[in-house]
Formats: sequence, structure tokens, C-alpha cells
Amino acid sequence: MTPKKISRPQPNMLKAEWNDGFESIISLKVLRENCPCAECNEAKRESGSSNLLQTFAAGKYKISKLNQVGNYALNVEWEDGHSTGIYSWDLFRDIFEKNKLNDKDIK
Ligand SMILES: [Zn+2]
Repeated sequence: MTPKKISRPQPNMLKAEWNDGFESIISLKVLRENCPCAECNEAKRESGSSNLLQTFAAGKYKISKLNQVGNYALNVEWEDGHSTGIYSWDLFRDIFEKNKLNDKDIK
């Protein structure tokens, strides 16, 4: 399954329409929190430790650019400069299925 259209219905949301007819909207925060890169996985693994300071970087949940990687994945560049995440279509679809916003959230 591959997305045929990706759009941004709200500044903090991303919508994907797929070639099998499925479509959903998620928040960019969720997309960032599911970043599959090594750095983010490491941070997630360590987030159980009490001495880790939770920080917020400006632009962390804003996309500056989407780059398709071959025909199998999407690379997301975030406004805080983070750009190592490669989302395979399987992962991307999984995020869109599990974190689908409902109409109430979108309005
Ligand atoms: Zn990452």
C-alpha cells in the first residue's frame, strides 16, 4: 500500500490518502513521536530514566519538508532541523491507522 496524496489540512496536521481508498488525518506531534530513527529510538528507550530532562525545541512538531525515498518510504524534515527519520510506507500507514483523528479533533 502506498499513499497517493499527502496534504496538510491544518498547520499541525497531516492527511494521507492511500491507493486502497483509506484516508485519515493525524497530528504532526504523533508523527514526530513515532520517528523511527536511531536517535529517537534511543531517546525513547531512555525516557524511563528519572534524570532525563524533557525539553521542547521550537519547530519540533512542524514539518519543513517531505521527501519521498525511492518508492518505499518518506523522509521528514522538521523545523528544528531533525531530518534523519525515514518512514517506510508500512510504518506510515500503521501510524495513520492507529492515530486517526476524529471530526471533533479536527474542527
Ligand atoms: Zn528521529
